[in-house]
Amino acid sequence: MNGDGPVNAAIMFIGEAPGAQEDEFGKPFVGRAGKFLESVLKDNGVSRESVFITNVVRCRPPGNRRPDDDEIKSCMPYLSEELKKVRPKIVVALGFVAIKAITGSEEKLGGIIGREIDIVLDAMKLRVMPCYHPSAAMRNRKMKRKFEDAMKKAISLSRS
Ligand code: URA
Repeated sequence: MNGDGPVNAAIMFIGEAPGAQEDEFGKPFVGRAGKFLESVLKDNGVSRESVFITNVVRCRPPGNRRPDDDEIKSCMPYLSEELKKVRPKIVVALGFVAIKAITGSEEKLGGIIGREIDIVLDAMKLRVMPCYHPSAAMRNRKMKRKFEDAMKKAISLSRS
């Protein structure tokens, strides 16, 4: 499944992999995590239609397990194509898998969420905002607060 959104989007969200509902609808983040992400966007005056949303891997891994390194590696060219097409001002990496795939960081999430990182990926200069995955943030009050703060920062960077 490819990403969804306009090619002139200033923000690109990158999740882990499509889930069951995403498979059914052929669109990323249409389930509960997507609704939560949309509500936080809306609270900050941003519509889902104005952002680009995609995933690191294109297919749902069997049993919804975390994608492995080979799956991530074989899907990276698709993500790279989308980044080249959209050239977002800010990339929001949602959760450990996306953060590691894009930045290479395996740091504990608590220490890096909300701290933007400038990277070069496939000869593209990108500004990345590491963020919790919405499905984790929606279940934990502390993570939700940090998620909302990181989203606010990312949105303000996308407007600068
Ligand atoms: N979780 C993800 O990481 N991606 C989706 O598209 C849906 C849920």
